[in-house]
Amino acid sequence: MMYIHYCRYCQRIHILNGHKNYCPRCRGHLTELKISYMKYVNLDKQERQNLKEHCKNPRELPLLAVSSDKTRDYAKWLQIPASNIEHYHSDHYAAYSH
Ligand SMILES: [Zn+2]
Repeated sequence: MMYIHYCRYCQRIHILNGHKNYCPRCRGHLTELKISYMKYVNLDKQERQNLKEHCKNPRELPLLAVSSDKTRDYAKWLQIPASNIEHYHSDHYAAYSH
């Protein structure tokens, strides 16, 4: 499974296989974003740029990030893949899909 991560040091979005904590480029601490891989790959260039602009804002980044490991623990507890949970929460990003 691919997940969307943001590195605030490189100011780049990284698409990585699995849940990663560290940036493959600078080894900085990554923030995993709530947006699903499928949703992200369907964004056009401008929408990706907008998403990156939001990530750059320290006040907005926490809103875009997966809240904590709790989400994944909860998914485990429910015996469903974490990706479904992320997809469920991704309604928040509906604005990017229009
Ligand atoms: Zn980095």
